[in-house]
Amino acid sequence: MSSIHVLDQSTVDKIAAGEVVERPASVVKELTENALDAGSTRITVEIRDGGIALIRVTDNGEGIAPDDISRAFLRHATSKISAVSDLDALASLGFRGEALSSIAAVSRVELITKRAENVCAVRSLVEGGQEKLTEEIGAPDGTTIIVRDLFYNTPARAKFLKSPVTEASHAGSLVEQLALSNPSVAFTFIVNGRTRLVTSGNGSLKDAVCQVFGREITEESVPVSYEDGGIRITGLIGKPSIGRGNRGFESYYVNGRYLKSRILQKAIEDGYGTKLMNHQYPFTCLMIETDSSVVDVNVHPTKMDVRFSDEKGMYDAVRTAVSETLRNMDMILHAEIMTRAEERRARREEEERRGRREEEETQKASSGRPAAEISSGMIPEEELPPSEVPDKPVPAENTRRETPQAFESRRIEKERQAAFPGVREESAGHYEQQTFAPAFLSREAKPLRRIVGQVFSTYWICEFDDKMYLFDQHAAHEKVLYEALMKQYAEHEALSQELLPAMIVSLTAKEEGILLSAMEAFRTVGFDVEPFGERDYAVRAVPYSLVGIDSGELFKQMLD
Ligand code: ADP
Ligand code: MG
Repeated sequence: MSSIHVLDQSTVDKIAAGEVVERPASVVKELTENALDAGSTRITVEIRDGGIALIRVTDNGEGIAPDDISRAFLRHATSKISAVSDLDALASLGFRGEALSSIAAVSRVELITKRAENVCAVRSLVEGGQEKLTEEIGAPDGTTIIVRDLFYNTPARAKFLKSPVTEASHAGSLVEQLALSNPSVAFTFIVNGRTRLVTSGNGSLKDAVCQVFGREITEESVPVSYEDGGIRITGLIGKPSIGRGNRGFESYYVNGRYLKSRILQKAIEDGYGTKLMNHQYPFTCLMIETDSSVVDVNVHPTKMDVRFSDEKGMYDAVRTAVSETLRNMDMILHAEIMTRAEERRARREEEERRGRREEEETQKASSGRPAAEISSGMIPEEELPPSEVPDKPVPAENTRRETPQAFESRRIEKERQAAFPGVREESAGHYEQQTFAPAFLSREAKPLRRIVGQVFSTYWICEFDDKMYLFDQHAAHEKVLYEALMKQYAEHEALSQELLPAMIVSLTAKEEGILLSAMEAFRTVGFDVEPFGERDYAVRAVPYSLVGIDSGELFKQMLD
């Protein structure tokens, strides 16, 4: 008996569907790209239960002719190309003719479509790839496709789905990307009956960026304009000051197509170079246009991968576009030089502020709040150098608190130096330091570290083991707070500080998904966060030990 047989069509379709339809977001992407290819100016995407129960995409595009409807659901049936040579001049997002057949193979699909020249619309039901019903109904011009019960007949795939919240955030991210790459199309995205994103479709990328990412990112972005060697790059890129903790804000589109490319990612990040700190990633929204014959998008069924015939040329262009834009940007710091009188007034005000803060903290401490130790000073009191900066420079040692013994040994050393100028004796202690110097940050090193001054109220200059150290006191303070927070987190003892008024943050679909799935962790560290309409959230309380840090920034960084 022969053991090789040809698989039946339904099995072939289900297997092939696995490559195109990985999760609800893939369906959203394919259907929305079809709507864009149909020349729509208004697209509504609605999902329920993360898209597993329902995905509905409605467009006002050209519609499908009644005779074409059954063909549209066939594998490799497309109106967009007829020969492989057409790929060289591809103007559409789709071309493989696989999406509708793949989606229909693993779900129950309802299609309603009407062309302007037809009086009636056609409604068609396809289940697991089988056409169940086709009838005429009344409907506006355009196409609506409803996908229900995704993976109902492929349980193995259904098992890999994440929670509805996570799936919804993936779908939301895709809608955001498609909206950004098509600012002339008005998008609406609805999740479980709630509108999550609306773009105006007025053609302005800046407006689309604002609708997706919010005001802050838009205001902190600069336009890109580059053209060379057949490559045109436009769009917006964020100033280094709005660097993010992950790559979720790096978007780029090649000939209008949203995709992922390691070359483009590297070119963008290299373009920023050292302007971004380590482990910080930029916000970008770059439109890259080039001759479609030098781009191969037929790499993978999802069409998210791309090859360039001249990789180096593409890399150079993107990197240059980014770095030139940043170079031209006004990056000059505004240094304000104070007059003596202003300096004295600023100092007085700072002292008053500090006095008030201390008073508040004493009150908090006595009302049962945790001791003010962590939030009061940057560095433990005994290591503080003089808080007064004298008008006339005075050697630091004159104002340092000193033990009588230290004073005495310094006096002896002075006398010795006066008697034998130029000869410096290595004291026993110093010798020991050189041989067995403890690690700079160790407890044992503490008495040996000597803070000799401060620069810009920020950096401490410290002598230790024959070396000069500079430390960023704010960074050090943040580390102290971080350790305190993690300790509370581990011990489930987080205390919250209410924010009045609450802070409102606008999240992207992906950030929202992360927040919702990590809500418990945010609560445990002391955040109190509530929905505040659309994708806005009200942060009503923050971890107590972090009061004073820019809470909005902190919250977003934790999400990142
Ligand atoms: P592809 O997009 O690669 O051509 P699809 O399976 O996604 O393949 O779609 C098959 C065909 O169905 C398309 O070529 C197009 O003619 C038609 N079609 C699908 N969706 C729409 C839509 N929203 N509006 C108009 N035509 C559509
Ligand atoms: Mg398609």
